[in-house]
Amino acid sequence: MALLDRALVRLLPAVPKPVVRRVSSRYIAGEELGDAVRVVRQLNGEGKLATIDVLGEEIASPDEARAIAGTYREVFEALERERLDSNVSVKVTALGLKLGYDLCRENLEAVVAHAAERGNFVRIDMEDASTTDDTLRLYRELRAEGHENVGIVLQARLKRTLADVAALAELRPNVRLCKGIYLEPAEIAFRDFDAVRTSFAQVLHALWDAGCFVGVATHDEWLLEEAKRGVEARGLRREDYELQMLLGVRPALGVELVREGHRLRIYTPFGRHWYAYSLRRLQENPKIAGYIAADTLRVFGR
Ligand SMILES: Cc1cc2nc3c(=O)[nH]c(=O)nc-3n(C[C@H](O)[C@H](O)[C@H](O)COP(=O)(O)OP(=O)(O)OC[C@H]3O[C@@H](n4cnc5c(N)ncnc54)[C@H](O)[C@@H]3O)c2cc1C
Repeated sequence: MALLDRALVRLLPAVPKPVVRRVSSRYIAGEELGDAVRVVRQLNGEGKLATIDVLGEEIASPDEARAIAGTYREVFEALERERLDSNVSVKVTALGLKLGYDLCRENLEAVVAHAAERGNFVRIDMEDASTTDDTLRLYRELRAEGHENVGIVLQARLKRTLADVAALAELRPNVRLCKGIYLEPAEIAFRDFDAVRTSFAQVLHALWDAGCFVGVATHDEWLLEEAKRGVEARGLRREDYELQMLLGVRPALGVELVREGHRLRIYTPFGRHWYAYSLRRLQENPKIAGYIAADTLRVFGR
């Protein structure tokens, strides 16, 4: 990343919210469920699947956490009504993990039960390392209760992940594999770009060796090639795996992947709590300085 971009990443929290909002609008469907429905309809029309995330990491009370769970119910209803091909992704913090494990578990169970009623599926996103154990525990408890319509996310950045694959293997989990966005201390995480890539490839093959369904979530062409080679070598059929990307990131590459015949799922967030998600997306955009500068010029040029 260029020097100016790196400096801006550090300064991003000081950038005025309206600027953050405008330059991050490509990553978010909008504030309302209707915005997500419109975007998913368009994605489906382009041959892509979706996973809808109700933004809510910044919630501060049990009522807000319950409201997020309630919004997921409305999402399932809308998906069925509109006949859209999308599942959902949930963040345990949005369902109240920081306010209490039991509160979160209750909300998560409600979301998974509503999904099951409508034949849908819930992916539990993975957040920073302070939440990994609780997130895996919640997943195990749901599976122990017989819920099959739920999947987990593993992060290649974390050194523990290969061991987590071994520990989870008997459950044959449905896994989204990603690099991991949260910057973690060097004792527990790979910091080097190539080390994260190597770990990603190792974990991917370990998951396939264990017979897991994997959603390969990356925009990194080197890793996508690795995944495609694995699919071919293992003789996986189209329905045995999927590729996943974020809304607004490398859309042209996504079109190419669909054209090649892969199933591609697009992570589609919506909601009023857009700020934390937007900051993370901007912080990993290699051209962040250009976007912020262009937007600021646009504002001052008015
Ligand atoms: C569907 C999906 C779900 C995810 N879920 C989680 C999760 O639950 N937990 C978690 O920790 N992380 C999650 N992530 C984020 C992930 O961990 C990475 O931070 C993110 O995908 C960037 O890594 P990369 O593999 O794309 O490789 P990178 O090397 O970071 O990116 C490859 C290329 O993609 C482009 N690119 C990447 N990001 C941006 C951007 N924001 N704007 C513009 N261009 C960009 C650039 O051209 C870059 O060179 C998810 C990612 C995806 C795709």
